[in-house]
Amino acid sequence: MKENGYKKYSDWHCLLSDSINSAEALAEYLPLNISGIKRVTDLYPMRINPYYLSLMINTGDNLQKQAVPDIREIEDVSGSDDPLCEEKQSPVPNLTHRYPDRVLFMVSNQCAMYCRFCMRKRKVGSPFTVTDSTINTGIEYIRKNNTIRDVIISGGDPLLLEDEVINRILRALRSIRHIEILRIHTRVPCTLPQRITKNLASVLRQYHPLFINTHFNHPDEITNEAALSCAVLADAGIPLGCQTVLLKGINDNPFVMRTLMNKLLTVRVRPYYIHHPDVVRGTSHFRVTVKEGLNIMKSLHGHASGLCVPQYMIDLPGGGGKLPLLPEYVKSVSDGKILVENYRGELFVYPE
Ligand SMILES: *Cc1c(COP(=O)(O)O)cnc(C)c1O
Ligand code: SF4
Repeated sequence: MKENGYKKYSDWHCLLSDSINSAEALAEYLPLNISGIKRVTDLYPMRINPYYLSLMINTGDNLQKQAVPDIREIEDVSGSDDPLCEEKQSPVPNLTHRYPDRVLFMVSNQCAMYCRFCMRKRKVGSPFTVTDSTINTGIEYIRKNNTIRDVIISGGDPLLLEDEVINRILRALRSIRHIEILRIHTRVPCTLPQRITKNLASVLRQYHPLFINTHFNHPDEITNEAALSCAVLADAGIPLGCQTVLLKGINDNPFVMRTLMNKLLTVRVRPYYIHHPDVVRGTSHFRVTVKEGLNIMKSLHGHASGLCVPQYMIDLPGGGGKLPLLPEYVKSVSDGKILVENYRGELFVYPE
């Protein structure tokens, strides 16, 4: 197998531009069916940068499944490209306005890696979907709608934009009187931690209150580099959250999930959501049942510090929004009292 020394790169741009994006190139590192993978990447692009490549080769299956295309992506005819109706609820391109007080604003269609389970498979990596003009139109929409208090800057990955572009977008949004909270959704602390530079942090820290939600799915992704990138952001005063996706064969296991949640807290990231996988075409091989998800939540409540127990969310099809699900701890309700079960499975009567 070829050696890949990502540590020789001194700059994240070079890491990114040396990414693997063809079946032939990947075959130098992993045994694979080149013609099958080509058919997948014709439809859904691949990008594996040297950092994540090295990590997934050293750690194995749980990371490889997230990054390496699988023929089942194009064999899957279930689901829809856009089950959450992000396009229908989009008053201007690349902006979804589902809740009155907050919007999802997609300012980049590039990511440091193209995750095979991505719920925005229809969009990421495809050319020309985000331009200066769509960004400006989005900012104008937000300026004109004074019910919006919270802007979620997403993509793709917003932190693949250059520092100056990020600065310009944040400055424009911060200049809008009714905007209270800015949020950035990014996977780079996990997939390309070298992107989190001191300069980026000094740009971001000018726009508080600014929150970042990142995205780790497996404890092996929390490397020293990832920990350092989180420290740089946290030291800039940015509260960090994590949105994990529950994925079959990757983290659908109580021990793995609990280890991940505990480890996130040690790198100053507070778990925010565990997302049940959406019914997106091309991702059915990652799907688990809600019952399995609830079991995993049961293995967290009470067994791990409350600080690292996130909410378990399903995103309703048709644009109904997100909903938290909880295991059934209340067994019955009758006059004056409820019967509840604690984390050890013991029953208690609690007076109402
Ligand atoms: C998830 C989401 C949000 C934000 O939801 P929170 O529960 O506040 O994190 C906003 N808009 C859209 C379209 C979303 O999908
Ligand atoms: S980083 Fe996020 S948006 Fe990009 S491919 Fe992965 S899941 Fe999708």
